[in-house]
Amino acid sequence: MIRIAIDGPGGAGKSSLAKAVAKRLEIIYVDTGALYRTIGYYMLTRGIDPTDKENVVKALPDFTLQMSHVDGQQVILLNGTDIADSIRTPEVSMAASNVSAIKEVREYLLNTQRNIAKQHSVIMDGRDIGTVILPDAEVKIFLTASPEARAKRRYEELKAKGKEVSYEQVYAEMVERDHNDSTRDIAPCVPAEDAITLDNSALTAEETIDEVIRIIKKAEKKNQNFYLKAHRLLATPIRFLSGVKAHGTENIPKDGGFLLCPNHIAARDVVLVAASCKRQIRFVAKKELFSVPIIGRLIKIFGAVKLDRGGSDVAAIKKTIELIESGSLVSIFPQGHRYPKVNPATTPIKSGAGLIAYRTGCDVIPVFIKVKNNKYGIFKKVHIYFGKPIKNEDLGFKDGGKDEYNHATKLIFSKVLELGGYTDGSNTTTDAGGNEP
Ligand code: C5P
Repeated sequence: MIRIAIDGPGGAGKSSLAKAVAKRLEIIYVDTGALYRTIGYYMLTRGIDPTDKENVVKALPDFTLQMSHVDGQQVILLNGTDIADSIRTPEVSMAASNVSAIKEVREYLLNTQRNIAKQHSVIMDGRDIGTVILPDAEVKIFLTASPEARAKRRYEELKAKGKEVSYEQVYAEMVERDHNDSTRDIAPCVPAEDAITLDNSALTAEETIDEVIRIIKKAEKKNQNFYLKAHRLLATPIRFLSGVKAHGTENIPKDGGFLLCPNHIAARDVVLVAASCKRQIRFVAKKELFSVPIIGRLIKIFGAVKLDRGGSDVAAIKKTIELIESGSLVSIFPQGHRYPKVNPATTPIKSGAGLIAYRTGCDVIPVFIKVKNNKYGIFKKVHIYFGKPIKNEDLGFKDGGKDEYNHATKLIFSKVLELGGYTDGSNTTTDAGGNEP
């Protein structure tokens, strides 16, 4: 999962750059300017002056705006109609710039932008992506170029589309829009503190793409190194202090997308399992686990993915699928909840693990966390058993569906229990498992 924020003034080439990078990395491109353009366009067609704050705000409930991706292409529907062809005129550019300075308009579009980045790896371009929309983005680039270079590019772009414009007109509008965008009170177009500024006045489009790919790869490596360093530093002391002994770590494949399924006792499971495994495990954990003192911080350091969408299981499943498909080792707890002091063979289980295995076709590594009476305590020994991967073809899938997911999850969890020495599990699944994301 990666989120890349590209901000910068108009005409710097953000959208062609972002499109090309999205294609190379096979992630989604989100053009946020198109959202503001759509609102600007709506106001113009209704005869509302885009600078008239009061009337613009009043008109916001009068239309529907939906953004989706079809075959990787962004589609915006205004009242159900795709108006992509009408929003690239200089008038709409200026209207977009004007409505974008209105606080209520920005708030109106905030969740549309954030939600898509919660569900997918994205490269998103705009003016405030790195500062407001995705302040935690892994990569932030502020792409800029001299006003002359940008006006020339925009002018040629409009000419190529057969638009009747002069360079002077494009230049003047660009300078005005720059001024509007960078001096407005809310979400001005400025680089985020941790953004890399790239001036591409003297670079070709291809050179800009190569440079950005280089920056992204470097950032990914840095993240990876950070994990490895943290792991090297913390894993041994954590295992020592918590009395953990890991077994069967050789069963964890060195690379490739796998699902790892441990039993769940308490929040610290995440930290202890991560400290027992050399390879980075991406735990998809509900946000409450992150607020447990100390453990929450360690969970974060160990690269867990915070699930912040009302903690819904569907969201967890979606995120897990995406991570596995991009080659990560991902962990979810089939029980879905923590069960301290409860015999794991008797707890309910969710059917998500089966659904994920079906959807990704991945093999599943069972893990058992064994501690006396299923309760952590000082001086108590913890054994963590990593089992051999269960082959996907052994999970009994045919056409998918609720019954198959339930059956597969039960099978996975029975292997988990077997590692812990339980042979008579009587777990029942508690959810339908059919609400596929
Ligand atoms: O990027 P584009 O030129 O399509 O954006 C049109 C206008 O929308 C910009 O001039 C800017 O005022 C506004 N915008 C914004 N914040 C974004 C994206 C665009 O304010 N994230």
